Amino acid sequence: MKPAIFMDRDGTLSHEVGYVNHVSRFRPYPWSVDAVRLANRSGFLAVVVTNQAGVARGYFPEPVIHEVHASLVATMEAGGARLDGIYFCPHHPTVGEPPYRKDCDCRKPRPGLVRRAESDLGIDLARSFVVGDRIGDLELAWGVGAKGVLVKSGYGLGELTYNVPSWPRKPDLVAENILEAVQRIVSEAGTRT
Ligand SMILES: [Mg+2]
Ligand SMILES: [Zn+2]
Repeated sequence: MKPAIFMDRDGTLSHEVGYVNHVSRFRPYPWSVDAVRLANRSGFLAVVVTNQAGVARGYFPEPVIHEVHASLVATMEAGGARLDGIYFCPHHPTVGEPPYRKDCDCRKPRPGLVRRAESDLGIDLARSFVVGDRIGDLELAWGVGAKGVLVKSGYGLGELTYNVPSWPRKPDLVAENILEAVQRIVSEAGTRT
């Protein structure tokens, strides 16, 4: 079993622009390719986990998500980086119509996306990390026994400044962005073994 670095999408791998309701709005950070390639070379699976409730809310149809993720994969491949999995939750518990209006188990911080990846890819969660810009990403990490890393990109700086002080548990790591996060995860893992 391999460890994984689970990566949030919006605000972590790409600019937080609100709902990405068209592929043209999707803008990966320039350093995200380097981050994923470093994870690839360091023995970590690189897995994207993202909430996309805009589908349930009726803001855009589900194929837009597939288009965005195809674009993300192409960007990664062009830079010699590989995503081992991309998992998304299109649901919302109270808004919209079934099947998207659903009290699902996959909307972060619930663990469904990570559990699916765990069974698809064979992941050692105790040695894994979830990197994201919202508290929900860290709650996801802690709920599955992984470590939670907060990035300052996206909503992260605001979370760190205004909300982290009152969180009952502090992030296991705080990083400027996803690249620094992966660099520090990798070096920490290196010193442990
Ligand atoms: Mg985010
Ligand atoms: Zn869901």
